[in-house]
Amino acid sequence: MRIANHANRLVLLLRGEDGRERGVDVERASDSRFAADPQAIYERWDDFRDWAVEAGTRMEATVAIRRDLLGPPVPRPRQVFAIGLNYHDHAAESNMTGSAVPPTFTKFPTCLTGPYATVVLPPGNVDWEVELVAVMGRAAHQVPVEAAWQHVAGVTVGQDLSERVSQLIPPVPQFSLGKSFPGFGPIGPAVVTLDELPDPNDLVIGCELDGEILQKGRTSQMIFNVPRLIAHLSSVVTLLPGDIIFTGTPSGVGQARTPQRFLKPGGTLVSSIQGVGQIETTFTAA
Ligand code: ZN
Repeated sequence: MRIANHANRLVLLLRGEDGRERGVDVERASDSRFAADPQAIYERWDDFRDWAVEAGTRMEATVAIRRDLLGPPVPRPRQVFAIGLNYHDHAAESNMTGSAVPPTFTKFPTCLTGPYATVVLPPGNVDWEVELVAVMGRAAHQVPVEAAWQHVAGVTVGQDLSERVSQLIPPVPQFSLGKSFPGFGPIGPAVVTLDELPDPNDLVIGCELDGEILQKGRTSQMIFNVPRLIAHLSSVVTLLPGDIIFTGTPSGVGQARTPQRFLKPGGTLVSSIQGVGQIETTFTAA
């Protein structure tokens, strides 16, 4: 199942015989059993999934999907977690390895934006980080690794855009602020449930800038995979339905290149994950 935020309404995406994706408006198709607000569905995830599976064959997709109307599929999570240095090759290129626990920060939720966003570049050095984003479908506290995926509604594609000057400012790096400028959290285009993926722990992930490959890896290269991240985070905090976790990026970021490279106005960044989808982010000057 794939769900999206189309014009601020929850839609279930179905592919027609012509190959084009169309949407079922969930509030209308369910006779208002489920609300139109895309964020609300995670509170009732198990109910919704059962309904969607049961009603699936009878539902008619009547919404023509317009890219410019797609918003973040999780628009207002109460908590956003992000994990640094979680791929072996990226930790190595950053000269930081051997963390016993996943380095954790937040992207403040106002930075979230949709899958086809235009982002204003603030002053400084704005860098790319393609990431798998896990979306919680149940509350989770002290969840063991083996039970962690059962608490996940699905996954989506994200960019952990990062302004490196403010992120790495001494003496105390400011990861959360440096990664939370408006538009610095594009996610989408859809939340995809795990049954759609051959192996949710091993997906090709990458991004391209104007057609040039910048990052390419596999999510199996994570140091702490999604179940281990959920077990670790939930050993401390309570994860809530509709919370999201940016799970770290593979190598190839601009900060680690020689010479260093950063995003410029006019560029288009395409970020993709196998079986999940792709998002396109364009950049403009302030
Ligand atoms: Zn990141």
